[in-house]
Amino acid sequence: MDFNIDRLKRQECIIVQNQKNMSAFKSGGRIENVVYPTSIRGLVGALDYLYLCGKDWVVVGNGTNVLFPDTKYRKIVVCTKKASKFVVDGNLVYASCGASLGAIAAECKRIGLSGLERLHGIPATIGGAIAMNAGAFGGSIGELVYSVDLWQEGHVKTMLGKDVDWQYRGVDFGGGVVLGAQLQMTRSTPVDVTVRGKYYDNKRERTQPKGVTLGSVFKNPDGDSAGRLIESAGMKGYAVGGAVVSEKHANFILNSGGATSEDFVALAKKVKEQVDKCTGIDLEYEVRILK
Ligand SMILES: Cc1cc2nc3c(=O)[nH]c(=O)nc-3n(C[C@H](O)[C@H](O)[C@H](O)COP(=O)(O)OP(=O)(O)OC[C@H]3O[C@@H](n4cnc5c(N)ncnc54)[C@H](O)[C@@H]3O)c2cc1C
Repeated sequence: MDFNIDRLKRQECIIVQNQKNMSAFKSGGRIENVVYPTSIRGLVGALDYLYLCGKDWVVVGNGTNVLFPDTKYRKIVVCTKKASKFVVDGNLVYASCGASLGAIAAECKRIGLSGLERLHGIPATIGGAIAMNAGAFGGSIGELVYSVDLWQEGHVKTMLGKDVDWQYRGVDFGGGVVLGAQLQMTRSTPVDVTVRGKYYDNKRERTQPKGVTLGSVFKNPDGDSAGRLIESAGMKGYAVGGAVVSEKHANFILNSGGATSEDFVALAKKVKEQVDKCTGIDLEYEVRILK
């Protein structure tokens, strides 16, 4: 089937051409075509069309864990951020993939539903959080997922959370796209949820830097912390171009101004080599470097 990007405009999608800064690291070249479905129906229609046309595409949420190349990006980027509805029904939250984790957490706090407190401060969409099995302070989103709706090669299916193979910072959905999910929360009170949330917010503030970052660059190896290993390898403050290893938490790379994706990648590579040299541990990327 011949591909015509304008066809998607008739399918509940907004098209933006030559967009910059889709990564939270604020680096990367222009993206030729970004498709923003405004509903799940629009998202499924766009994915079906791209699939039928055999186009190269990639899905992103809020871009807080992805790095785009510095050159023009020609794959179609499907950004879910505008398919952002969620509804609360008893202890269940049904969220479209583009719903903001922060917005859901704020609503849960207001009405006294507990579950997301540890994840406060992760700037994710629900789809991105589920795809990454995002987590913090010993908890992760997978523990809350009652069911997840997926698009896979032209088909839509639902999986129960208990049947998903949740891994540490990742899930293999076989190339499937998360359309939405039901999160199972626990009844509590607004005060309790607020107090617990504040505890984790403070912890995050004490240990993590502010600024332009993608969060943790590497996964923690079994029984150790990537930040501790990077610090012990003497890499705190090390910089390549505008990318610098945070003095506050060594597993964060900050864009101190004008950093390119190439700076990020070169610095991360140097950190990885140095940790390997000093400790024999081969750190694994948590950040997704798009090609
Ligand atoms: C300040 C800061 C703090 C952070 N703290 C944490 C933390 O405490 N814990 C943590 O785990 N992470 C943390 N992160 C990293 C990041 O926020 C998480 O990985 C988050 O889950 C990414 O969500 P996103 O919507 O931005 O996804 P994106 O960055 O847009 O995408 C991430 C990956 O998910 C895929 N994806 C996105 N949406 C979908 C979908 N609908 N279906 C299938 N695949 C999809 C993308 O293709 C990509 O591979 C932090 C990042 C920042 C900037």
